[in-house]
Amino acid sequence: MSAPLTATCLCGGLQFELTLPTKWVSHCHCHNCRRAHGAAFVTWAGFLESSVRCIRGTNKLVRYDTDVQSQRVFCKSCGSTLLFSGERWPGEIHVAVGTIDGELDREPSVHAYADRAPAWCPITDTLPRFGGESGTEPLE
Ligand SMILES: [Zn+2]
Ligand SMILES: [Zn+2]
Repeated sequence: MSAPLTATCLCGGLQFELTLPTKWVSHCHCHNCRRAHGAAFVTWAGFLESSVRCIRGTNKLVRYDTDVQSQRVFCKSCGSTLLFSGERWPGEIHVAVGTIDGELDREPSVHAYADRAPAWCPITDTLPRFGGESGTEPLE
């Protein structure tokens, strides 16, 4: 078994321990991810809820309830958004790969909400693309 990874915010005040394996790794181009992270898209790794544990800064941990039955967790001091969970994915926590220290056990395999990618950052790779209302319907 490999040693656990960590996910750390910008100021270092909030940290999670992550136990592999991941369930999946995917790029998400939805508008909520774009706004929450101030980025063109967000790469997420799916973990079992039981594989993600706060090991530093529970007093810095803030939960934001979005309008789509989901929650985003960020650091009260520096604003880094680290975690996502939602009713559509019971028992799972999504961890922003950009905050993870160390090597994951797999590479990103799909684009979700690919049809919402902005014109200023088009998707150029050959990974499968999903979209539509749910973000996960196959696209042509
Ligand atoms: Zn922080
Ligand atoms: Zn998203």
